[in-house]
Amino acid sequence: MTGIAWPDGKRAAVSFTFDFDAESVWLALDAGNAGRPGTLSIGVYGARVGVPLLLDLLARHAVRATFFVVGRNVELYPDRVAAIIAAGHEVAVHGYTHTPPGRLTPAEEEAELVRARTLLEGAGARIEGYRSPSWDVSAVTLDLLQTHGFRYSSQFMDDIRPYRHARHELIELPIQWLLDDWPHFQLGFGQMHRTVQTTGAVEALWMEELDGIAALGGHCVLTMHPQVIGRPSRIAMLDRVIARVKRAGDIWIATCAEVAALAAAQLP
Ligand SMILES: [Zn+2]
Repeated sequence: MTGIAWPDGKRAAVSFTFDFDAESVWLALDAGNAGRPGTLSIGVYGARVGVPLLLDLLARHAVRATFFVVGRNVELYPDRVAAIIAAGHEVAVHGYTHTPPGRLTPAEEEAELVRARTLLEGAGARIEGYRSPSWDVSAVTLDLLQTHGFRYSSQFMDDIRPYRHARHELIELPIQWLLDDWPHFQLGFGQMHRTVQTTGAVEALWMEELDGIAALGGHCVLTMHPQVIGRPSRIAMLDRVIARVKRAGDIWIATCAEVAALAAAQLP
């Protein structure tokens, strides 16, 4: 594996990323959810309460994050998207309707990509990155990203360090379900047999993995959702995680675009 020389002698990097899905993730999971306002309200919470709480937390820590935003949210929640951009965070594309690319034709996938990017750029975002809805990548996703000039994607689970995709200029910033809030915390209707994890359990899981990635000089990408991490107890947990990373002093906290730019300059 090719290591990255992190800035200022730091030994590793971490990116705090938020997938701003709101209702779209529920509509994409099951079209029948369009008639279930109770289910959709889980997503509405992310826009109404989660995003403002996260922006406040990140501002208090002076940490810049990356928000992967569903294009539809520019139309549904323009004030929230504007607030994310105004706060100086990076915004990247997360589809238009949150439909997993594996369920789209190549033409439909390209249309989603272009529409979302156009909407986000219209809102003032400078777009460099992409994360597919549900981390579902189609056979043409990388080609489409290359064609449309994206610099990086963050959707594969095959490394702990940035790498360059074969046959593409694209940099990959790998992720993992382990470092995602959804599988630990989120319930949907029909999933009531699951147990919601305590923040203590997830904090331990995340810090162990973060420490492990840091020891190997890698890049830890935490993937969170305003509707999941935006619950008050979990905001407090994220507060503790950010504080611990800052206190360590030897881990570079950066946006995905910053990490991708550094990796692009160093990787063959
Ligand atoms: Zn999503």
